[in-house]
Amino acid sequence: TPRPLIAGNWKMFGLEASLDEARAVAAAVSEAPPAARVAICPPATLLHRLAETLSGEPVLVGGQDCHPAAQGAYTGDISAAMLVDAGARLVILGHSERRGGYGESCELVASKVEAALAAGLEPIICCGESLAQREAGQAEAIVTGQIRNSLPASLAGQAFAVAYEPIWAIGTGLTPTTADIAAIHKAIRAILVERFGDHGASVPILYGGSVKPENAAEILATEDVGGALVGGASLKAKDFLAIINAA
Ligand code: 13P
Repeated sequence: TPRPLIAGNWKMFGLEASLDEARAVAAAVSEAPPAARVAICPPATLLHRLAETLSGEPVLVGGQDCHPAAQGAYTGDISAAMLVDAGARLVILGHSERRGGYGESCELVASKVEAALAAGLEPIICCGESLAQREAGQAEAIVTGQIRNSLPASLAGQAFAVAYEPIWAIGTGLTPTTADIAAIHKAIRAILVERFGDHGASVPILYGGSVKPENAAEILATEDVGGALVGGASLKAKDFLAIINAA
């Protein structure tokens, strides 16, 4: 099994001063190497500075989205190659805040994954159901549908991760039971194995949604949980390090 991945998603938070938090994370990770790989995905304005700050440190830098095209007249967008140029090694794709807020379809997410792979980025592909969908007993069907349609065949043999983030758990302090997490991750794993064979059996499936220092150890010890995608708690070095060291 590969090392777990603990990735921080700073979303639209973070100014210059946040680099100090990242430096503190890197210093601690260098001094006491954790079991997990560690990544920070800052807003695009901080990518290059963060990559420079962390150069030579064992903390990876990632983007939060990319455009499916290599370049072009797409005002406000960023290509996968531009993320690489700024120092990114990974990219979060298909986050619920993109699917919901910008109407991103699974087909669009899959084309972004293709672009990320072409540029040499490791995609973290997100999925997750809404509260209404969970209450209607549709969580597994929604998530497996997203996974089937958001993962292009070109992922075969490539480094990538999946992140299960129930929308109702994001930023709310609510989390599914570990049994519920295990059930969804098992369903995702089955599709990964069906699609990608042995490679699919080893792809990390991260959990995201209100991961905190207090619940990280229990969640990370759950069957088929290969890491965490951390929002709010990744903004403070102390909290993020506690989660990193729980892996
Ligand atoms: P929180 O950890 O703030 O709930 O956010 C989770 C998330 O959306 C990470 O991508």
